[in-house]
Amino acid sequence: MAWDFSTEAEFQQQLDWIKQFVDEEIIPIELIQEGLNQAQLDKLWAPLKQKVKDHNLWSPHLGPEDGGQGMGQLKLGLIHEILGRSELAPEIFNCQGPDSGNAELLAVGATEEQRERWLYPLMRAEVRSTFALTEPHIASSDPTAITTRAEKDGDHWVINGRKWFASNASVSDFTVLMAVTNPDAAAHQKASMIVIPRGTPGMTVVRDVGTMSHPYHAGEDFLSDRIGGHSEVLFENCRVPLDHMIGQPGEGFLLAQKRLGGGRIHHCMRIIGQCNLAFEMMCERAVSRHTKGKPLGHLQMVQDAIANSAVEIETARLLTLKAAWTMDNRGGHGSQSRMEIAMLKFHVPSILLKILDRAIQLHGSLGYTTDLPLEYMYRSGRALRIADGADEVHKQTVAKQILKTIEAVDGLPSAHIPTRKKQALEKYGHLLEAAKAAEKPA
Ligand SMILES: Cc1cc2nc3c(=O)[nH]c(=O)nc-3n(C[C@H](O)[C@H](O)[C@H](O)COP(=O)(O)OP(=O)(O)OC[C@H]3O[C@@H](n4cnc5c(N)ncnc54)[C@H](O)[C@@H]3O)c2cc1C
Repeated sequence: MAWDFSTEAEFQQQLDWIKQFVDEEIIPIELIQEGLNQAQLDKLWAPLKQKVKDHNLWSPHLGPEDGGQGMGQLKLGLIHEILGRSELAPEIFNCQGPDSGNAELLAVGATEEQRERWLYPLMRAEVRSTFALTEPHIASSDPTAITTRAEKDGDHWVINGRKWFASNASVSDFTVLMAVTNPDAAAHQKASMIVIPRGTPGMTVVRDVGTMSHPYHAGEDFLSDRIGGHSEVLFENCRVPLDHMIGQPGEGFLLAQKRLGGGRIHHCMRIIGQCNLAFEMMCERAVSRHTKGKPLGHLQMVQDAIANSAVEIETARLLTLKAAWTMDNRGGHGSQSRMEIAMLKFHVPSILLKILDRAIQLHGSLGYTTDLPLEYMYRSGRALRIADGADEVHKQTVAKQILKTIEAVDGLPSAHIPTRKKQALEKYGHLLEAAKAAEKPA
């Protein structure tokens, strides 16, 4: 099947509207909203959200049966490329993580009653959610090693354990928790997903962890009143009814796989959006700033930075669109496109960091200041090589998928080459003999 990343003219009009709306209405609000609390922000954002609903672009990641647009990964990718220009834009379109990933998870795994309780309120943006898998005391790159336990006690699950980097837990209304329910099962069938509503006794948000993008003083226990924090959460004999489990016991990893594929594509297209923004700034600087009477863009080393950036963005974009296309065309919620998704998840964030580094460099001291968004984008962009799976883990997936298609050969490398030659002679020796005969003088 030939890849085809084109979309209809009508959809292109929607993309054009989104671009204008993000640049002219969302980004200006983002620039002036500093210092407001969540209630004030919600009020400021409400008219923008209404415009998105009026344009039928609300919750674009969900199917029409769940109140979304059902547009498929390729179109979603093209939308996210534009939304990536602003940290606020995904929130305005109601497709921000981790809510969008949790909604996709509930859409594939929840019962009708669970949809009513958690999915539809998420779709209407009446609630916020958290996804809690990572644990501070284990290498969570291997999620089968998690230790948080959920044990059945009568008609309840009793949960004990500690999570961290549970994004938004200090402000969210419910947490989708990954916990071990079947300790004796095979590694990928041990864990399950359980919803813990906010305020359930036994669940304590200990603190929001200070990070490179949101540094707090070391040792300070900080609880934010805004989205965007990464929380440490403690579960001590926390009890929730049995019907709070999504899917069946032991299906946690199966559901996680379905949840993560599309999210990684959207994430990487948003990263491409950030690359585009940094690249535009870099080019603008190259034609505006002069040295020795000429614009910076006349210098060959600056041209090198621009040409390399253009190629890197384009290749990262095509890689991501290809993964979106394979997901749309192969189905399986991403399970059939694992290698493509793993490729972009480690490649695209590294491109962003390179482009941002060059953009900062080209802006000189201005690039290092908080007058421009580049330094913040650089600090927060660094997380992308770790969050949602460290680069190395995705590289391992790619290499394993490739190597399992390659057949082993017998013998040392030096023995292997003659073997190939022998096989070639067996197959095509008659052609060689015929050719030699033709060379003989008549
Ligand atoms: C901004 C941000 C937001 C996050 N949001 C969430 C969230 O909402 N919910 C959630 O549950 N988690 C979240 N995380 C956590 C994130 O998913 C984990 O940090 C990540 O999976 C890595 O786990 P770890 O930190 O335990 O690193 P470890 O597993 O301890 O790994 C440390 C390092 O070891 C190396 N390494 C590990 N495994 C391999 C391997 N197989 N091969 C080679 N090298 C390897 C890598 O260099 C890796 O970075 C978030 C993290 C960040 C930074």
